[in-house]
Amino acid sequence: MRIFEPHIHMSSRTTDDYEAMAAAGVAALVEPSFWTGQPRSGVGSFVDYFNALIGWERYRAGQFGIAHHCTIALNPKEANDPSFRAEVMEILPRYLAKDGVVGVGETGYDSITPAEDELLAQHLALAVEFDLPVLVHTPHRDKLAGTRRTLDVVKESGIAPERVLVDHNNELTAQVVLDAGVWAGFSIYPLTKMDERRMVLLAQDLGTRRIIVNSAADWGRSDPLKVAKTAQALLAAGFAQSEVERLVWDNPVEFYAQSDRLELTVQTDDSLSQGNSIQRGERA
Ligand SMILES: [Zn+2]
Repeated sequence: MRIFEPHIHMSSRTTDDYEAMAAAGVAALVEPSFWTGQPRSGVGSFVDYFNALIGWERYRAGQFGIAHHCTIALNPKEANDPSFRAEVMEILPRYLAKDGVVGVGETGYDSITPAEDELLAQHLALAVEFDLPVLVHTPHRDKLAGTRRTLDVVKESGIAPERVLVDHNNELTAQVVLDAGVWAGFSIYPLTKMDERRMVLLAQDLGTRRIIVNSAADWGRSDPLKVAKTAQALLAAGFAQSEVERLVWDNPVEFYAQSDRLELTVQTDDSLSQGNSIQRGERA
């Protein structure tokens, strides 16, 4: 089955992951910009990271036949660092105009601070200005209150709700989010929070309309094959092939196609390799 992975941080994954994802059917993905684990020391670190997302990582994914896209933002956690916040916000427009950038994100609440409030509103305004969809992260603590507050800020921004994907939902937040007219994302994790079994129960309850499933795999314990595993679990539970395909391909494609920048076939552009020998070890 063809899979579109709508939320994965490939910069922190290996080529084995790319290989396994391609074998499991992943043909395209979106890599939202986020925190790298180690706090950044200045704006230059963001510049290098954003450049890697639109250049090197795209090339790396292409080696495995996977079409790579990204979303660009100042992530919620580092939105709280006043030392470079203004400088990062100043460089975002430069990236939001580029090919391969299919949205603003991830933005949203981490600890629900006044700085996060302000930055979420600024990112939503950028999404309106650049006519891009936006990926909104919700806090892992105090999930329902944080999600309600997120939806209030989205509404105030005036952005069309169908251009907003509110992510990391669970059983408590799903209906609240869908009722707001935005898309609901579900991250499937290996050990904690949402898993395949719970996702099957949710899909039985909610259907598949405006619902998107992702692995949110990053540098922590996570599994880049969770979308494929969820698809298998849905089929085993009796969902029709077409309905599962809607969840793991049609829905994320429809959402990110609103950027007008989705390219679902891989362009092999060797200029992006920048002299790096990703193919080292290959025999001539
Ligand atoms: Zn993420």
